[in-house]
Amino acid sequence: MNQPVHLTGLAEDELREFVRSLGEPDYRARQIFSALHRRRLRTFDEMTDLPKDFRATLAGRATASTLTVESRYVSEDGTRRYLLKTHDGLPVETVFIPEERRDTVCFSSQSGCPLQCSFCLTAKLGLLRTLTAGEIVEQIVVALNDAYGVGTRTPRGTNLVAMGAGEPFLAFDPLMKALRLMRAPEGLHIVPNRVTVSTAGVVPKIRELATLADRPHLAVSLAAPTDELRDELMPINKRWNLEELLAACKEFEKSLKPGERFTFEYVMLDNVNDSDGDARRLANLLNRHQLRTKVNLIPHNAAEGLPYQPSPPERVARFKAILEAKGVQAYVRRPRGRDIYAACGQLAARRSANNLAPALAHQLTR
Ligand code: SAH
Repeated sequence: MNQPVHLTGLAEDELREFVRSLGEPDYRARQIFSALHRRRLRTFDEMTDLPKDFRATLAGRATASTLTVESRYVSEDGTRRYLLKTHDGLPVETVFIPEERRDTVCFSSQSGCPLQCSFCLTAKLGLLRTLTAGEIVEQIVVALNDAYGVGTRTPRGTNLVAMGAGEPFLAFDPLMKALRLMRAPEGLHIVPNRVTVSTAGVVPKIRELATLADRPHLAVSLAAPTDELRDELMPINKRWNLEELLAACKEFEKSLKPGERFTFEYVMLDNVNDSDGDARRLANLLNRHQLRTKVNLIPHNAAEGLPYQPSPPERVARFKAILEAKGVQAYVRRPRGRDIYAACGQLAARRSANNLAPALAHQLTR
């Protein structure tokens, strides 16, 4: 049987084609787009502004949602993790991170991940498949509905980060399409300026992103100041080494708007990449390429199955101080949602969180 068309992944012109093929007037496309993206409805039944017959026709040919919510975990810090399932049974994880001034939705670009970063739990899944644009948008819809209620406008300033499972730059086309769909003022209205895409270092796509107008912000995961160590921690370094990566970053930097910066992320692994020497080498490397970026130091989120421990806080503070003494701005990221396996590097479709936050087998029907 053919998979029904997932309307959430269609741009308005594609929706127009689709309604025309059903012999319906063009304005139906706009109605459907608004129902899916602005009101965030996930069933045709709820689209009561559409005639009943038309809703029945739609239900026979298409679908308004393909992801099902398997579970929802709530952290003691308020972070929520959604374990979703695709129509073909693959896990997708999305995290909602409430913050004082604005909230952030962290979404996945792939089910699993093909990169074999040694400090990341998602790597253990391998690549299951790349997500479609519709599946990307739907993750955000599920998280926003749960946080704010169906039918509400997206609060101004809501941030999106492509920092969930997968390598976003290996999902470049669906990701860019999803971002285009989500920026529509008559839809979710989340503009590229509120979106950050994080890459492990897919060099050609960093260069391509630099050429795009209205692009999202960029973050690059470094994790090591030398090729020798980076080869070991992030095997993608064997494909594109630090020189090539930083050259592409330099190119990208030229495309930054005034006041815009991009970020390097550096996961802090106890006794692996956190020495004074590592801090000096990192600062020298960035200074040598004259990169005016900031570095986010991410305390390692340990998990069963990963061979590392987090650097002690004093180590992280000292690492930061060395970077700053050499003129490199550094920040320490506060881990969120660790107790429910929602933090960076912890997304591996874990079904049960630890006992601090019992899983709520909450059926989000919408
Ligand atoms: N593949 C992309 C997107 C994932 S973002 C990328 O690598 O950038 C996930 C971020 O979490 C990356 O910066 C990664 O370095 C970091 N990370 C992965 N595993 C981690 C862990 N166990 N603890 C802390 N940070 C981790």
